Amino acid sequence: MTKKIFDLGNRIHLIDGFDLSLPYRTGTYVIQDEKIAIVETGPSLSVPHILNGLKELEIDPNDIAYIIVTHIHLDHSGGAGLLLNDCQNAKVVVHAKGARHLIDPSRLISGAKAVYGDDFDRFFDPILPIPEDKVIIKEDTETLALSETCELTFYNTPGHSDHHFSIYDPVSNGIFTGDTIGVNYNQILEDTGIQLYLPSTSPNQFKPDAMLDSLEKIYSLNVDCIYFGHFNVARDVEEVYKQIKSWLPLFVEIGEKSEQLGKDHHWIADQLYTAVQEDLQKLEIKDTHPVYEFIKLDASVCAMGIADYFAKKNR
Ligand SMILES: [Zn+2]
Repeated sequence: MTKKIFDLGNRIHLIDGFDLSLPYRTGTYVIQDEKIAIVETGPSLSVPHILNGLKELEIDPNDIAYIIVTHIHLDHSGGAGLLLNDCQNAKVVVHAKGARHLIDPSRLISGAKAVYGDDFDRFFDPILPIPEDKVIIKEDTETLALSETCELTFYNTPGHSDHHFSIYDPVSNGIFTGDTIGVNYNQILEDTGIQLYLPSTSPNQFKPDAMLDSLEKIYSLNVDCIYFGHFNVARDVEEVYKQIKSWLPLFVEIGEKSEQLGKDHHWIADQLYTAVQEDLQKLEIKDTHPVYEFIKLDASVCAMGIADYFAKKNR
């Protein structure tokens, strides 16, 4: 049986949202301070999982004060509108560049259809608009008090997307990074004890230099833990920085090569997958391990973002 709720200490729990119907992909963090905040909703299909998790944690959804979304990609905030139906007293906290798309999600929907095609309905429907008076915008370094002793701080962290912030929590000395730093595969690799972190270069605002700058910004905060959008917390933060700094240039290099050879994103996806696969094979992870399915899915989306970055660069 897969675990659905993780107690991360420091009054923080993680509820698995079963994004794409898979465990250990996308989760919702619950911060139980004097005021209760949740970070990320996943897509609408995750909302029943969130409500079940809250029930198990004995939290009345009406007691949730804030629903914070790190950015407005649908696997992070697509369910916010639907979740609000059950969280009548919650405000949705979002980056300035994301707010209008939560209020009017039409562009989010068309953008996701462009990436996910026929799978859109199955994975993301419905995406409900959020009333403007429920939306709170946080600019770089602004704060949000959960109690007299806890103020969350928001930091702009572009690179994965322009409408992305990360949220620093002083109680755990940790930071919620959404997709800024990348994806953490440790949970699916739990049986092996191997740590794997890869950049998340989804379309269509991937900018490698900004991603590295955001990584440095987070590094300078000297945190003890990083709460990933996908999936769960990492406490070996030095290893996170090390791996992302080594993978990111390789991802970009594969993009450059595809430009030179006139290849498309399918080729990039194959190259990305093969590079990671070779690495995992060296670590003796069997071909049948479920991590490879995760890598395959992520490589295909990362490849589209890399292709998009080079297409714009050459325009
Ligand atoms: Zn994203």
